[in-house]
Amino acid sequence: MSKRHIARKRFGQNFLVDQNIIGKIVNSIGAAPGQTLIEIGPGMGALTDPLLETGADLLVLEIDRDLAETLELRYSKQSNFSMLCGDALKFDFSDPSLPEQYRVVGNLPYNISTPLIFHLLAYKNRIKNMVFMLQSEVVDRMAAEPGGKEYGRLSVMVQYHCNVERLLNVPPSAFRPAPKVMSAIVALTPTSTAQADKKLDDALAAIVRAAFASRRKTLRNNLRELLPEQEIEACGINPGARAETVSVSEFVLLAHALRGSDHVTQEMS
Ligand code: SAM
Repeated sequence: MSKRHIARKRFGQNFLVDQNIIGKIVNSIGAAPGQTLIEIGPGMGALTDPLLETGADLLVLEIDRDLAETLELRYSKQSNFSMLCGDALKFDFSDPSLPEQYRVVGNLPYNISTPLIFHLLAYKNRIKNMVFMLQSEVVDRMAAEPGGKEYGRLSVMVQYHCNVERLLNVPPSAFRPAPKVMSAIVALTPTSTAQADKKLDDALAAIVRAAFASRRKTLRNNLRELLPEQEIEACGINPGARAETVSVSEFVLLAHALRGSDHVTQEMS
């Protein structure tokens, strides 16, 4: 980029400079001509260049107006490039102008990575796959098994909707400016079991949110407003257990029980 840019902390700007890491992300997303790819946070174009070279139609979402202006100047003549300057958290990934299926990629701004992942899960039926650079600790939480402190709402919701594959750990030296923490590349592939059952999805979201609301409390207490103790037991789950010991498939049983019950919450409607 010709214009000098001073990295903005509030936009989580840590630009990738390691060509091996850039290559790994681009290869992992697996884009090809005729396909559509959405890049979140193109920044100064470290991934944008090689992503455009795949021949895929690339839509980039960038919040920083200065960077967007420079990107526009640089890429607008390429027929497979388009850009929206705005907040990816507010982007409607079900926009009718998008094809039925697309891939999503990015070195995500760490300050919004978790809400962004939840936002994207709502569109999982449209998404073929996702590859992201994230804080290593966030990938740990996504991939965590029941029983530990890393296992929580993010783990259950991501694992219910997607296959999670940790691809590579990435040191701070791969970025400018270097972040203070380790990063990791993760591949998320929406699963076929994650059907388009909106009611079940909503029930699961409500159950998981409530179950982890207070990690020290039992399911019996955290789910008091949603499911009576007998229904938790009828799922073969101990109401005295804590959420962090409950597996994803057990949460799905609880979600089925909630969907089938009269205990419909505000959150679900
Ligand atoms: N892709 C570039 C790279 O790898 O060098 C930049 C990655 S940098 C970690 C994150 C990028 O996301 C920045 O360009 C930042 O301005 C942009 N960004 C931050 N918040 C955003 C948001 N809410 N919506 C869209 N882009 C955002």
